[in-house]
Amino acid sequence: MSLSAHDLLYSNSHHSNDDEQNLASIDELQQLLCHLLKYTETEFLLKKREPIQSQDLIQAFYRQAKELREGKPLAYIIGQAPFMSHTYLIQPGVLIPRHDTECLVEHSIRLLHTLKKDYSSIVGVECGVGSGIISIECALAHPTTHFHAWDISQKALDIAKHNATRLGASNITFHHGNFFDGIQDILKKHPNSLPFIISNPPYIETDTIQTLEDSVKNYEPHLALDGGTNGLEFYDAFFSLIQSIPSVLLCEFGYNQKNALQALARKYELYTIEFFQDLSQNDRYFIARTID
Ligand code: GLN
Repeated sequence: MSLSAHDLLYSNSHHSNDDEQNLASIDELQQLLCHLLKYTETEFLLKKREPIQSQDLIQAFYRQAKELREGKPLAYIIGQAPFMSHTYLIQPGVLIPRHDTECLVEHSIRLLHTLKKDYSSIVGVECGVGSGIISIECALAHPTTHFHAWDISQKALDIAKHNATRLGASNITFHHGNFFDGIQDILKKHPNSLPFIISNPPYIETDTIQTLEDSVKNYEPHLALDGGTNGLEFYDAFFSLIQSIPSVLLCEFGYNQKNALQALARKYELYTIEFFQDLSQNDRYFIARTID
């Protein structure tokens, strides 16, 4: 007897013990199955009782469902994740896009529209491009603005470039290396442009990484998470940078870092900084300005 998608989804629980089952929700198993069957959610609902002919596909499902139950994130198993209205190629070595980052991106896009009324030339720069989600969304929304995006991981850059090409964002130049070294050259080349700096930098305290949930700690790149002993290393460097360069800086940060960031901003005598929350009402990103 051939199995249907519905059978696979609900019989799958027989292949796991209770602990494993907790790590894989029915929702994620369904997304995995949709991916393998190349079904949209609607197609899945319409066709879920039809027999699946391919034994290879059924075996692939069992194999990947096991990985999911063991804690491997769905995005790394199926090689993609949604962000804003696009699907991004995602592989181990880049952070999985978080819904929370969409607030920062939407605000960046709106703010760029506003700034363009006063500044004839703006150059976008991103520190830590990862899979490319932030720069690509901004570049697609602002095709006449040029963006420069850095990452110290070549793997991340390869993935970001691939995503930019697939999604048609041709106004981004990718740079391999340290952002704080590289940006100086770019600013020299664009002396009359307003630097619009965006980043979702690593911001977890080094000692806290070991306490993160397994799916993050065991699978996501620590390079993209580790913000040094106090989690603030990147913000320290950003505040120092913008003191000498009139610019606008938008950064994501950890839900519990607002007070520490306010104190850090005071230390740099940076008074034009505003904090914003994400859709879950957690403090999530700030905008700092060193322009009038
Ligand atoms: N910009 C990417 C993201 O927001 C990568 C961030 C990072 O590597 N810290 O997902």
